[in-house]
Order: sequence, then structure tokens, then C-alpha cells
Amino acid sequence: MKYAMIHDMEKCIGCQGCTIACRSENAIPDGYFRLKVKVDGPKGEFPNLSFNYVRHSCEMCEHTPCVTVCPTHASFMDENGIVDINADVCVGCLYCVVACPYNARYVNPLTNVPDKCNFCKHTHLKQYGEPACVAVCPTDALIFGDLDDPLSPIFSYLANKPFVTNKPHLGTKPKLFVVPNKKGGVVL
Ligand code: SF4
Ligand code: SF4
Ligand code: SF4
Repeated sequence: MKYAMIHDMEKCIGCQGCTIACRSENAIPDGYFRLKVKVDGPKGEFPNLSFNYVRHSCEMCEHTPCVTVCPTHASFMDENGIVDINADVCVGCLYCVVACPYNARYVNPLTNVPDKCNFCKHTHLKQYGEPACVAVCPTDALIFGDLDDPLSPIFSYLANKPFVTNKPHLGTKPKLFVVPNKKGGVVL
């Protein structure tokens, strides 16, 4: 499988339900995050204001600078395309934190090991088949699935909606796709 996610900015209302679910599901320490939804705006003149809600999390790159620089293979991509961290063989050099062009990793102050979104691989995905953020989103702005499966919802979604990826010029090929908000544009 090749797991991927879409953030549809047309549907996102910035409620932060996904960020709260992520923190709870993955026991993220206070002051740190795997997932943020940033508010871009307001834009325009009152009362015709618009907002843009921008997801910030690991982009699940196909070409992974974080994995390339890791000297111990603690950073790796699994058989389902999820970029993950094996804390048991991490030596805490933080090369991966520096190499990530999306600033997606933080260092867990309790373990001194880098951490980031892994699609809830060991938690909600394992138990319920989808990440916690996807499960709680009230507007279905997050779509999760398998890019290798033509029957997966993510497959037909990408076939029918215009989408962009973050910093495509870097050649990292993110598997986090973004459907732009027509009112507010897209800021990544
Ligand atoms: S966004 Fe950063 S941490 Fe995530 S796969 Fe890409 S380089 Fe690695
Ligand atoms: S901090 Fe750990 S996971 Fe990151 S590059 Fe160093 S050994 Fe690899
Ligand atoms: S839960 Fe859904 S609607 Fe709310 S901020 Fe997250 S993606 Fe947007």
C-alpha cells in the first residue's frame, strides 16, 4: 500500500478538532505538535472576509531527506509508504530534524527522540483503519487512503479535484495533497 492524505481547504473550517485529536491520540507533550492548522487571514474588507486554513504536519514525502541523512536507519519508510522513526536505534543526532524542509519534526523532551506525524500508525490507524484527525473532522476535509488502490476514496478524489503539494520544486514528492481554497488561495 501507499498511504496518503488530502487536506481539502474548501471544506476546512479551522475548528482545530484534528489538532486536538492528534495531541490526545499520540500523547504529544504540551508546547509541541505533530499537527497544526494555521489561520491565514482575514482577507478582504468587512463584511466580506475570508480565511484560509493551512495544515502543517509531516508531508509523507516519497523522496525523504530525513531518511537519507539518518546514520542509523532510525528514520525509515515502511512498506505502506509511512515515514516513521524507530526510537530504539535513534542516537539523537537530530540530522533528520535539520534536513526536513517542512519543519515537520520536533524533539520529544521526555525521550530526546524526534517525533512527527506517522498517520497514527501505532494508535488510531492500527485500531480503526484511519488517523485520528481524519476520524474527527466534522466536514470531511481530510481524506485518507491508499494511492495504490483505485477503489480507495483518495484515488477518485484526486482524479476529480485540482490539488497542489507543498514546495514541489524540492522534488520530495509529498503524499499530503492540498485542495486549494478558491476564496483564499493557498499558502503553504
Ligand atoms: S515532511 Fe519532513 S519529516 Fe516528513 S517525510 Fe518529508 S522530510 Fe521527512
Ligand atoms: S535523530 Fe535519530 S532519527 Fe534523526 S537522523 Fe539522528 S539517528 Fe536518525
Ligand atoms: S478537523 Fe477538519 S475542519 Fe477542523 S481544522 Fe481539522 S481539517 Fe479543518
